Amino acid sequence: MDKKRILSGITSTGKLTLGNYIGALQNFVKLQDEFEMYIFVANLHGITMPIEKEVLRNNIKTIVALYFACGLDPKKANVFLQSDVSEHSELGWILTCNTTLGELQRMTQFKDKSAKAKASNGTDFIPTGLLVYPALMAADILLYDADYIPVGADQKQHVELTRNIAERMNNKFGPLFKMPEVYTPKVGARIMDLQDPTSKMSKSAKNEKGVIFMLDDAATIQRKIKSAITDSDNLVHFDPENKPGISNLMTILSAITGDGLDKIESNFSGKDYGVFKQAVADAVTNLLTPIQERFQTLYNSTEVDNYLMAGAANAKSVASKKLNKVKNLVGLNYRRK
Ligand code: ATP
Ligand code: MG
Repeated sequence: MDKKRILSGITSTGKLTLGNYIGALQNFVKLQDEFEMYIFVANLHGITMPIEKEVLRNNIKTIVALYFACGLDPKKANVFLQSDVSEHSELGWILTCNTTLGELQRMTQFKDKSAKAKASNGTDFIPTGLLVYPALMAADILLYDADYIPVGADQKQHVELTRNIAERMNNKFGPLFKMPEVYTPKVGARIMDLQDPTSKMSKSAKNEKGVIFMLDDAATIQRKIKSAITDSDNLVHFDPENKPGISNLMTILSAITGDGLDKIESNFSGKDYGVFKQAVADAVTNLLTPIQERFQTLYNSTEVDNYLMAGAANAKSVASKKLNKVKNLVGLNYRRK
């Protein structure tokens, strides 16, 4: 039987965070033995908001090296840059034309990000890309007839929209697209900011103190976790509503070590937060140090470019067939039905 397909990507908007790792990247690596993988750097999504070209280039280069440093194996996974497979943009446009303004304006990420953009630049400069990018994301997914989309919880709404667009297209033009399903980790689908544990940890956050970056050194990780906002109960107990800071640190520890939340509670019963935070910092450091070592070698390796070229070629062969079928059924290829 053919292997089921997985597709996912990370946007080149900044330095990757522990949230990106636990919510998405960790699953990419876990799934690569069992599934046919298409993993890309979402660099077209990465220009949704203004970004300096040197920063963009470096973000892309860093994500690529981190993908492989985390264990993505180029023999198992097709890793590529979104902009190297132009079918993404082409299908993106066709799907944009089949998506309503209302649907896009309802996306919570659009509401959050446009509000933040307004607050930070003080103008109404909201690029249209910020609104329409979920239609491009739908194209990313539907081009490959992907079965599962490993992402964090914040992307569920966009995968839901993708399903709605797919269903609409299938009803209108005949069977075109497979219905994708979201695949989130059981623990850690939404890692929170350490300084504001009611907001998601994000690579484009303004305050870096609340964000653990995958390339932070051990001392920085230690400092950020020690100064994470908690409460004054001195009780390691999972209660996201009333104890968001401690619950977030427990989630991080659980996602990394595999220990259940109950076990963590009992391991730290009677111990103060200092001891608990030290254990979280150690777990994060032990996770990231070997990844960072491999990253150093991969960052300037030209081998990586070969992996990307091969990945893009494989992706393109799947994507171009699909795009052609869409063009036929939509009527763009006017000679064919
Ligand atoms: P940005 O602030 O630019 O949107 P981001 O940190 O949200 O950056 P994305 O590139 O949008 O990163 O997302 C990449 C993947 O990481 C997605 O699957 C997303 O769901 C996941 N992800 C992002 N942040 C978290 C988080 N805090 N916890 C779990 N998963 C996350
Ligand atoms: Mg995001």
